[in-house]
Amino acid sequence: MEKVRVHDKTFVPYLKDAELQEIVKTVAEKIYEDYKDEVPVFVGVLNGVVMFFSDLLKHYPGRCEVAFIQMSSYVGTQSTGIVYKKMDLTKDIKDRHIILIEDIVDTGNTIESLFQYFTETQRPKSVKLATLLLKPEVYKKEFVIDYVGKEIPNKFVLGYGLDYDEEGRNYRDLYQLEEGRINE
Ligand code: 5GP
Repeated sequence: MEKVRVHDKTFVPYLKDAELQEIVKTVAEKIYEDYKDEVPVFVGVLNGVVMFFSDLLKHYPGRCEVAFIQMSSYVGTQSTGIVYKKMDLTKDIKDRHIILIEDIVDTGNTIESLFQYFTETQRPKSVKLATLLLKPEVYKKEFVIDYVGKEIPNKFVLGYGLDYDEEGRNYRDLYQLEEGRINE
């Protein structure tokens, strides 16, 4: 794995495809242990979740359905703190067990907005949350994240679905910003 350049920034290798697959498989198995007698709806939070979502489904051995929603709070490599719902939920999930699938939880603003949206307006039977990555140094919310693939340091990451100004999502591996966070 070599460094990659996206727009004006350099990113260094962090997690290889094979390591990511191991992490995803473990998350899929943990979810299955809890839901083997149910048909949960996996709700993918677009766009960054695409690769994680697809691999999670491939590793999930049980019955499930899928839906998507799109939220956004990032501009460049910084969270704006304001979360926008850019695309409505693609399925009626009333009275269903849902698992929100996120690529990465940073400040937690996005999951806070999602919980509010789902519990207040969609009336699912239950809501759990799964994320591939969590930055514990930045996460300050009360919500329990039920399934965490891996805790990572507070550095901007790219690849495996995650972008920098819309590019870099297509790398199979995960990279870290070489310089650390931009405002440090
Ligand atoms: P939060 O609302 O928890 O601050 O941020 C969640 C969203 O911000 C994620 O779904 C993701 O789209 C974006 N995000 C947070 N940290 C990173 C990161 O390190 N790299 C990239 N590419 N996106 C991030």
